[in-house]
Amino acid sequence: MTAFPLPPGSTIGVLGGGQLGRMLALAAARLGFDTVILTPQSDSPASRVAARTLVAPYEDPAALKTLAELAQVITFEFENVPAAALDILAGLGAEVAPGPRALAIAQDRFEEKSFLNAAGVATVAFAAVDSLQDLRAALRRLGAPLLLKTRRGGYDGKGQVWVMRPEDGEAALAAIGHRPAVAEAPADFRREVAMIAARGRDGEIALYPLTESHHENGVLRRAVAPAAASARILAEAERIAATLLNALDYVGVIGVEMFERDDGRLLVNEFAPRVHNTGHWTLDGCEVDQFEQHIRAIAGWPLGPTVAIAHVEMTNLLGDEADRWAHLAHEPETRLWLYGKREARAGRKMGHVNRLSPLAR
Ligand code: AMP
Repeated sequence: MTAFPLPPGSTIGVLGGGQLGRMLALAAARLGFDTVILTPQSDSPASRVAARTLVAPYEDPAALKTLAELAQVITFEFENVPAAALDILAGLGAEVAPGPRALAIAQDRFEEKSFLNAAGVATVAFAAVDSLQDLRAALRRLGAPLLLKTRRGGYDGKGQVWVMRPEDGEAALAAIGHRPAVAEAPADFRREVAMIAARGRDGEIALYPLTESHHENGVLRRAVAPAAASARILAEAERIAATLLNALDYVGVIGVEMFERDDGRLLVNEFAPRVHNTGHWTLDGCEVDQFEQHIRAIAGWPLGPTVAIAHVEMTNLLGDEADRWAHLAHEPETRLWLYGKREARAGRKMGHVNRLSPLAR
């Protein structure tokens, strides 16, 4: 049994070796923790700033056993961690945060939307689609166009296709490989917003200022925060985030992506049971950033203040955009974050910049 709060000198385990793991490891190090990464990838972005890395498949029983022996608490930096890995960790009595339930719900878009609605949080109208028959029924009930998304495994706009007309159903199912899917009504949003929030082991909740997010081809391009918003929208976003954290009995940081509609309603698109790209601005824009907040929460420390100290425009550096590092380093109000990825494939998230300006009074 792990005793909380974890003292400095303890070890935090992270499933996943990408940039989120890297920034978690940096935050953990600042608080005196060591990090051990489990990733199938050698030479990962996270492993180069962590105390130790286990290179193995996520479900590898021996690697999970070593991880559980080394780490007093284990977290994850992406939501497609195989359920089998968490089952093995549970069997070993390992402390995992956030818990497996939040992960299981977030891994399946149909379960996720059903859970949200049951918790009193609005989403677009949706239907489960396992066959052409289901898709036809969804088109009759919800109308066209519909956005068809695979239930599992999709991210950054992958595994999605618009069904513009009822007769396009067959082609749409083929485009997503005939995998189990959900059909969603168009959100008709005026803008997309996100809220990063955290819940501690004692149930304390911390909410960050609202972020306005801009996607291109399903990938986050830019995030601006704190976002201008009416008091009513802010209160509703905060209600939604707190509702989810409590309903999931959550420990750690969560990212909640929402659509703001012209009629002022907020619909949740999805939540990520982890630190999130829409929260990278907090690294330079808030008293305590999302990565330190996550470490604090899972380690049983008090949560830190989430107050904004600057206005930030965060821009992801995709593919060869990170090659402009020398130019970007000249901009006085720009904070550069590079992820140490060896290969700049087109569209790959290589880093981000936070451009700071004074907070509007
Ligand atoms: P997702 O993979 O669910 O995060 O979706 C990626 C992006 O696709 C979102 O950020 C939106 O820009 C867009 N999108 C997703 N769902 C819908 C929807 N039901 N209606 C309109 N646009 C959507």
